[in-house]
Amino acid sequence: MTPIKLNLTKLKGRVVAIDGPAGSGKSTTARLLASRLGYSYLDTGAMYRALTYFALRNAISPSDGEKLKVIAKKVPIEFETHEDVNRVFINGEDVTQEIRSQEVTSHVSEVSAHYDVRREMVAKQRRMGRKGSIVAEGRDTTTVVFADADIKIYLDASVRERAQRRLLDMARLGVSTTLEEQEAEIQRRDRLDSTRENSPLTKARDAFVVDTTSLTIEGQVEHIISLIREVFK
Ligand code: C5P
Repeated sequence: MTPIKLNLTKLKGRVVAIDGPAGSGKSTTARLLASRLGYSYLDTGAMYRALTYFALRNAISPSDGEKLKVIAKKVPIEFETHEDVNRVFINGEDVTQEIRSQEVTSHVSEVSAHYDVRREMVAKQRRMGRKGSIVAEGRDTTTVVFADADIKIYLDASVRERAQRRLLDMARLGVSTTLEEQEAEIQRRDRLDSTRENSPLTKARDAFVVDTTSLTIEGQVEHIISLIREVFK
């Protein structure tokens, strides 16, 4: 596939927001897209994961909204991108690998459901996106964090396909699990993330919906680039 050419001058300062459920391909797509556009990449899920990791490490319960709010406000979360690897730090500690553990994954939806936690995180995310030229991805980047983004994408895929992708991710991390376990975990997180009271995952009315079930990662990136070209021409 020949990559679509882009007029980068026209793209300067824009905000691209991508939402979708777990395993829909957001992270890889957003990272590659950011690199094609010369933008920075903001993985908002990694921020909720880092907070969850920090809480678990410090014996703070995922149900303790008050304490979590204080951490979300006071403890710095930072990113560093080096040669396509996006490293995540909380309180100066590199937690890039740790935040992908099964333990963090199974508690993150409870942590991210607290109103005050979200308020602190959204404020941080908006500060990171202040200058534009950013691809942000998560569950509420198209509806809340960057509700006025220049282009909004909603990525989706079947539960089976998303579970298969997660299984591969886990295998790469050396974690042994089954397709059935991943399907159950994905369905549980879908339910929690889309039925919670605060900023649930929904399709923004003005988002382009892209079903990635039968698309390769390159196919997803090219498809979004063709949408960007249309919108910004
Ligand atoms: O995208 P990822 O699967 O890493 O996100 C982990 C979790 O963080 C989600 O299941 C969701 O509970 C939470 N999240 C959120 N809002 C975002 C991004 C992630 O609530 N913008």
